[in-house]
Amino acid sequence: MKICWYNQQQLGAIVDGKVHDVSAALEALPAARYPAAPGDLLCANLDTLRGAIERLLPGAASIPVAQARFLSPVANPGKIIGVPVNYADHVAEANADQATFTDRYKGPIREQGLFLKAASSLVGPAEGVALRFPQRLTHHELELGVVIGKTAANVPLDQALSYVAGYAIALDMTVRGPEDRSLRKSVDSYSVLGPWLVTADEIADAQQLGMRLTVNGAPRQQANTAEMIIGIAEQIAWASSYYTLYPGDIIMSGTCAGVGQVLPGDLIECAIDGVGAMAVAVRAGGN
Ligand code: MN
Repeated sequence: MKICWYNQQQLGAIVDGKVHDVSAALEALPAARYPAAPGDLLCANLDTLRGAIERLLPGAASIPVAQARFLSPVANPGKIIGVPVNYADHVAEANADQATFTDRYKGPIREQGLFLKAASSLVGPAEGVALRFPQRLTHHELELGVVIGKTAANVPLDQALSYVAGYAIALDMTVRGPEDRSLRKSVDSYSVLGPWLVTADEIADAQQLGMRLTVNGAPRQQANTAEMIIGIAEQIAWASSYYTLYPGDIIMSGTCAGVGQVLPGDLIECAIDGVGAMAVAVRAGGN
């Protein structure tokens, strides 16, 4: 199932190129009380929600996908986990241009570790990216987004994929420079997730997905998730050995070669096989 959050905070299900309004399924969610349990309420109750969506679909109003404004399919993630230097060709391009890729911590992924992006940086494709520091170099990084569906702590490698709710296209927008990644990658709108959540049962093998990105129609990034140095299962096991993963947590699983600058007025278009495609406009914004 492809589930989205769109227009004026409506819940949608994508079938046959149309977004069906299944917002009434939200009634199936438990009422939130203070203090809220950790995690995104929708992702934590995805199985219940899917039943309610299926019952609503035959009578649901719909609009073409092209007319929908897609928000992030996860509204309230607790954290966004970043996976650095996880494709060999991106490692090579970073090592070849150390004036640009001035990340403080060098070395292979196992030495660098994972990083965190502020949850407040998350937007959907329709919201676009607002470049806050136009005088600095800001890059796009296309990544497969992995959304956690169940609370996960110290998960064994062979069970790790059972904690995945689904997948989406992710952009890990990045200001280049010497500061810690958690600062440079956490600017408002610098985490894009969309256009919808494809539930894990629809993806036969998340490590066999082609992905590509263009800017203003010019090809920039192209890879296959098979090229990851550390795969998704290992990312989940590794992350959960340090901190508990909660429903709605997002892993941005690393980018391939071809990262490059974006400027106000640019249009980023990206696609991942089996997931979908999205266009993200870049504008001046912030300070
Ligand atoms: Mn990245």
